[in-house]
Amino acid sequence: MFKLDLPRLERAGTLEISAEIPADDPLWEGSDLGLRGPLQVQGTASLAGSGEVLVKANIRGELEQECRRCLKAVLSPVDLDVLLVFGATDAEWGDDGEIRPLDPEATELNVGEAVREELILNTAPYVLCDENCRGLCPRCGVDRNAESCECTLEEPDPRWDALRGLKTE
Ligand SMILES: [Zn+2]
Ligand SMILES: [Zn+2]
Repeated sequence: MFKLDLPRLERAGTLEISAEIPADDPLWEGSDLGLRGPLQVQGTASLAGSGEVLVKANIRGELEQECRRCLKAVLSPVDLDVLLVFGATDAEWGDDGEIRPLDPEATELNVGEAVREELILNTAPYVLCDENCRGLCPRCGVDRNAESCECTLEEPDPRWDALRGLKTE
């Protein structure tokens, strides 16, 4: 968990943020992000005049995803700059800005949750090991980047499927 001590921030005005969220932190549960090693969060938190909390941070880490064609592991670095704004949700912040809710009575702010959201938003759901990845043979499963197989790779004409369907009915 990665939380900000709000009374401390109020006293100081600005706080340095330096956090490391382990890959096995419950924060990542159900996210499918495939973090390899901890995620580093470095930045500052500050108070805006109107009571909003601004968190400006750089997020770094490494993800291990699967190539959608050949299922090989693909490592992708994470290097993301985020600006998170927390405040009363009826406040206005630009046109397309997004304010995350901040309970005025709260003494801590769960920054980890927002970091998780940003990371998911900015992570490609599908990756390729290479633009030209040839994938696995759909018939025999060989990795067509590494070897070839005897299968005919022509896709069956879908119109024949329709005819076949008619025959068996
Ligand atoms: Zn691949
Ligand atoms: Zn094959």
